[in-house]
Amino acid sequence: MKILMYGTREDEKEAALAWAQKENVKVTFNDGPLTMETVDLLDGYDAVTTSQTAQFDDRLYEIVANKGIKQIAQRSAGFDMFDLDLATQHGLIISNVPSYSPNAIAEYAVTAAMNIIRNTEKIQRKVREHDFTWNKTIISKEMRSMTVAIIGTGRIGSITGRILNGFGAKVIGYDLYPNEDAKAFLTYTDTLEEVVRQADLISIHMPLTKDNTYMFNADLFAKMKDGVYIVNTARGGIVDTKALLDALNSGKVAAAALDTYENEAPYFPKDFRDKEIEDKVLLELIAREDVQVSQHIAFYTETAVMNLVEGGLNSAKEVVETGSCENRVN
Ligand code: NAD
Repeated sequence: MKILMYGTREDEKEAALAWAQKENVKVTFNDGPLTMETVDLLDGYDAVTTSQTAQFDDRLYEIVANKGIKQIAQRSAGFDMFDLDLATQHGLIISNVPSYSPNAIAEYAVTAAMNIIRNTEKIQRKVREHDFTWNKTIISKEMRSMTVAIIGTGRIGSITGRILNGFGAKVIGYDLYPNEDAKAFLTYTDTLEEVVRQADLISIHMPLTKDNTYMFNADLFAKMKDGVYIVNTARGGIVDTKALLDALNSGKVAAAALDTYENEAPYFPKDFRDKEIEDKVLLELIAREDVQVSQHIAFYTETAVMNLVEGGLNSAKEVVETGSCENRVN
């Protein structure tokens, strides 16, 4: 069996080569994503795994299917870059790796939350300028004095809630489908409005869908406490970034940590040190002291990368051998 692994980063190769040897499968690496320019590399392969970040070109489903390939195994939990109906129409199975290490993202969300409530970025900037004073601009809050709202209490949200409960925070939650196990450390509210109204810090952990695009908009920010903290490690499109900037400017939001940004695809995870960033909103977010932007990196731990590589390759192989796979999403 031959599998082509698109979008391969250096840090993925060791795990992929170990898997290939163990499974007796030939795995070939390509650095770039699966696009109209690179799709013909698939000739002669049995299966494919991808790490797409930008929207998948609609024309590719038919081309991939015509090469006799039956699946696309995405090496991430998110699969919003694919049009599942179109893939199904062309007989292609799309799979993801739903749970490769929820702790990785949860621990990052907690780190980001601690950073913004403890002003670590402002403190470091002052120290670098040799300003060692204590003053009100860097006085912090303690997590144990806060009510934290977890929006989306699935795998990642529930671990985040459990860790923050360990810090002594009062943890409340909102989910369309409350999670019985999470009730051990958080209290559910019936509505989104109620949960955000009570919260000092809000951490977002739900998938992006048509229904929750811009759920965090000017109306919802208006219902929050003054000086609320926002952490988004889920998907950028859940937050209307311009409304967030207005809320930061008015003081409604004290600070935000954004590991995802609605228009991140051209930039994350790419090197723009020698290139111009045209997105003025992104530039403003990066420049602000009250916003901590990161490059969709919450998942990025050694454990998670190994599980993602193995998960993608396992699904690709499973479809070739059985005609379907456990992690199929369409
Ligand atoms: P999950 O499916 O286990 O949990 C998601 C929860 O959100 C579910 O309980 C679901 O009922 C709830 N939900 C869905 N729509 C909702 C809505 N409109 N209102 C309230 N609740 C809603 O998913 P997970 O594994 O915990 O992942 C959560 C999200 O984290 C993913 O969808 C992905 O977008 C994001 N993520 C980010 C990174 C990163 O590196 N930043 C990595 C992996 C996942």
